[in-house]
Amino acid sequence: PMKVIPIPCLNDNFAYLLICPETNEAAVVDPSEYEPVFKEVQKRKVTLTTIFNTHHHWDHVGGNDELSRHFPGIKIHAHISDRDRVPGQTDFLEDGDFVQFGNQKGSILHNPGHTSGAITYLFGNMAFTGDTLFSGGCGRVFEGTMEQMHHSLNVKIGKLPDDTQLYFGHEYTENNLRFAQTLEPKNEDIQSQLTQIRKVRSEGKWSTPSLLSSERKINPFLRCHDQALQKHVIQKQPDTNLDPVSIFTVIRKLKDQF
Ligand code: FE
Ligand code: ZN
Repeated sequence: PMKVIPIPCLNDNFAYLLICPETNEAAVVDPSEYEPVFKEVQKRKVTLTTIFNTHHHWDHVGGNDELSRHFPGIKIHAHISDRDRVPGQTDFLEDGDFVQFGNQKGSILHNPGHTSGAITYLFGNMAFTGDTLFSGGCGRVFEGTMEQMHHSLNVKIGKLPDDTQLYFGHEYTENNLRFAQTLEPKNEDIQSQLTQIRKVRSEGKWSTPSLLSSERKINPFLRCHDQALQKHVIQKQPDTNLDPVSIFTVIRKLKDQF
């Protein structure tokens, strides 16, 4: 099976080194910066052949140029619409396309919302979501509509199996869960997850990856159909419609101000 090594970058970003154990080839998801990725590649004695960018933001592509200088011929994947804004892009992906490095085969989901070219990479039961889905939260909606973001999270990612491991782009989990608690003060899953995450963080460890089955219980952006959550949102914003996209829109805006 493919091996995944989280590489903390910048303040709270994660790049991920993916290793094919059969060929010793490696790929990196979202190299924010060159140095920590290069160190991990050296330490693991693997051959880096591929970059997978989830979207064009600088904190996800910042290492592209220097990596392609040090690893000539490296392939750089991103969505087709990110042509001209992902440095060094060589592969232009569309929804459902297949990707490969070494003997590891994956596919992509187009997830517009955070940006118009945001994608999730799928390898078996592992999903690399960038800034679309975080543990306990989701990215800000910069380029897409609220409806698109809701669809990306709840339909496209939401249809993946419960045992999907989510490898996300930022360590925002504790803050996300504190916000989730304001929406669902009686949700015991959120309470116990918050306690657990605080322990993990105090030990200097990270919260990535997270299980999709657990996100369905604690992540408000996957719970817009939940009646207790809806009730709370109505208390805060009495004029809100009770459809999931309207609920989503309100909680995304509340999170922007949290
Ligand atoms: Fe981003
Ligand atoms: Zn980011």
